[in-house]
Amino acid sequence: MIDDFISTEFLILPSKIIDNTITEISPDIAVCDNCLKDLKSQKHRMKYPFINCTNCGPRFSIVNKIPYDRKNTSMHEFEMCEICEAEYHNVIDRRFHAQPVACNYCGPKYSYSNVHDFTNIIKNVASKIDRGEVVAVKGLGGYNIICDAKHNSSVLRLREIKARDGKPFAVMFRDIETIERYCYLNIQEKELAESWRRPIVLLNQKRKLCYSVNNGLKSIGALLPYLPFHYLLFDRLSTSVIVYTSANNSGEPILFDDTIAENSLGKKLETFVCHNRKIENPVDDSIVKLVANKQQIIRRARGFVPNPIYTLQSVDGIFGAGAELKNSFCIGKNNNAFLSQYIGDLKNFETFEFYKRTINQFFDLFKFNPKVIACDLHPEYLSTKFAESLRVNSVNGSQIPLIKVQHHHAHIVSCMAEYKLSEKVVGVSFDGTGYGTDGNIWGGEFLICDTKTFKRHTHFDYVKMPGGDLAVNESWRMVLSYLNHYSVDKIETLDCIKNIRGNDIEIVQNMILRDINSPLTSSAGRLFDVLACLLNLCSKQTFDAEGPMRLESIIDKAETGYYPYVIENGIVSFSDTINVILKDLNTIIPSIISAKFHNTVVHIINDVVSQIKKDTGINKVVLSGGVFQNRFLLEKSIQILAKNNFEVYTNHLTPPNDGGIALGQLIVASNYL
Ligand code: ZN
Ligand code: ZN
Ligand code: FE
Repeated sequence: MIDDFISTEFLILPSKIIDNTITEISPDIAVCDNCLKDLKSQKHRMKYPFINCTNCGPRFSIVNKIPYDRKNTSMHEFEMCEICEAEYHNVIDRRFHAQPVACNYCGPKYSYSNVHDFTNIIKNVASKIDRGEVVAVKGLGGYNIICDAKHNSSVLRLREIKARDGKPFAVMFRDIETIERYCYLNIQEKELAESWRRPIVLLNQKRKLCYSVNNGLKSIGALLPYLPFHYLLFDRLSTSVIVYTSANNSGEPILFDDTIAENSLGKKLETFVCHNRKIENPVDDSIVKLVANKQQIIRRARGFVPNPIYTLQSVDGIFGAGAELKNSFCIGKNNNAFLSQYIGDLKNFETFEFYKRTINQFFDLFKFNPKVIACDLHPEYLSTKFAESLRVNSVNGSQIPLIKVQHHHAHIVSCMAEYKLSEKVVGVSFDGTGYGTDGNIWGGEFLICDTKTFKRHTHFDYVKMPGGDLAVNESWRMVLSYLNHYSVDKIETLDCIKNIRGNDIEIVQNMILRDINSPLTSSAGRLFDVLACLLNLCSKQTFDAEGPMRLESIIDKAETGYYPYVIENGIVSFSDTINVILKDLNTIIPSIISAKFHNTVVHIINDVVSQIKKDTGINKVVLSGGVFQNRFLLEKSIQILAKNNFEVYTNHLTPPNDGGIALGQLIVASNYL
């Protein structure tokens, strides 16, 4: 079930300043029903877009210091009027000690050009959206861009403004009934969408919005209004669905600084709506989905951060720098691990700046001083380099211990931490990329591990990645590599290669044969890429995991067959798999091939894990890594393992992708405290 383990009750206790005590700052909370009523009945808060109370409103996004008191938030600039002040001090009032309490007379205000009258602004914005314009609005944790989700040319224009690849956009629906018209959702998914955390929920599409919202994928990232502003906007809008996305360029961090936002968005957009409450902690919308009747977090940000994850052992004073892509870092206070909000890809300059800024912010906010630093084993990760730069203690010049944690071990331990496991488990760690202890790129790994050490038991066959990182997006390169590796000479017959220039093919084949810039990888992610490419679904990925997502979206769920494979001497070989699939390409429809391929991976997991159990008696299996965002794969794996009496664990408080790595790092390092 959905975890609601953090109550907000502590907010009404008088705050005490005690250094080193665990401070609990609540995540931001969606506007509550009572406030929505007040929005229409309270004279001083009539249609007031910043209405809030003790049960709802901004928290993490506005706090800059502990304790969480108004003077330590960006609300300190707004002096309460008499009415608000009276409510704030009245023990029986719903706004007793509600730090961001405000009203039309005294609180923050929206502005658009020179217009400050909110009714005018919202009317204007709504009519522009309905006319097909794209507008930028300052929201809770950053700036957002909005347009009508039924208007294809508007969505295309939005894509252009964001310099966005083909990645699907999140869509905000007027209400749950509208979501139900466009998406399939069960009771639990409904609960996720309506929860006070109000995340984006990935749902199966029932009816199409316009094509460019999700570029033909069969899922929709749906979210409900969470700010009073959103409700007031929908009151005015004709359309009941809007694209709701962060206003940054693709790959950059969320925009939150008014001047920077105005400079970058003001030029691109006619309509730029701002407000005068400062965003202290920028935070994106979170993304979740329901997998095997449990919440899986894809992006952990608004509504979740900074809820700690309670840990079995003390993690006090440990800083986990995280991975590089989809970065999130983590700090430890006593038995609490505070995972930062989603940061993004550190290779982007602005994102790396945002990373450093947020680390400073967390160190300040939680009065944190690192005693031990943990980072990824990858020597070239910017997070690793940053961790190394932190090593010298600024107070006395001594060196802080630095612990390097293998990427896939960290994935497994992130999940173990959630369930407070410390005994030996079988870790199935499938993802795109992670630096291995042999210097190769790992990603299809079966580990025997506890929270301190691991042994690599079995892994996917090594194949070359011609062009290194280039082969991640250009899946056709991996197709050539797989065919070469398994000595298959069928390239000319493949549809997916037909659009690739002959010259490029020759160059890449040469790279493979002569071993030029072709690191070895055992990545499960790359194997899924290859399948998507072979089925002609995606030979060049325009966003992360596009191929695997398209491959999953066509599965014929009724198909139970699978392909042959060989597991020998700790290596899973796909030679037979690829050969049979190549034969199938001409005779069998893609949805069946995709299903059989997924089933193959499930059978491999079951086989290896069963063998390990036979050898060692270990019965606990942990499944983690970005590949397990694949719902079909994860649910089927859980099913088959549960049927065979394994105890199966999967991430559900932290992302199975690299957003959870920092937690794993923290736990591994805690063994060295
Ligand atoms: Zn409220
Ligand atoms: Zn007031
Ligand atoms: Fe990973």
